[in-house]
Amino acid sequence: MAVPKRRTSKAKGRMRRASNWRYEAPNGVECPQCGEYRLAHRACRKCGYYNTRQVIEVDK
Ligand SMILES: [Zn+2]
Repeated sequence: MAVPKRRTSKAKGRMRRASNWRYEAPNGVECPQCGEYRLAHRACRKCGYYNTRQVIEVDK
């Protein structure tokens, strides 16, 4: 089994973990019905629409 010749320094490892640590709204997409952010492939929580039709009841 291959073994790394040098151990990654604390700074290098931390540098790597610090980058691309968090990105904005990974699965958020805008609802075409109300413009609100919703999860992709999920019915909109605000207006209950999914794929141009209402699929769940939402009380206002
Ligand atoms: Zn909506």
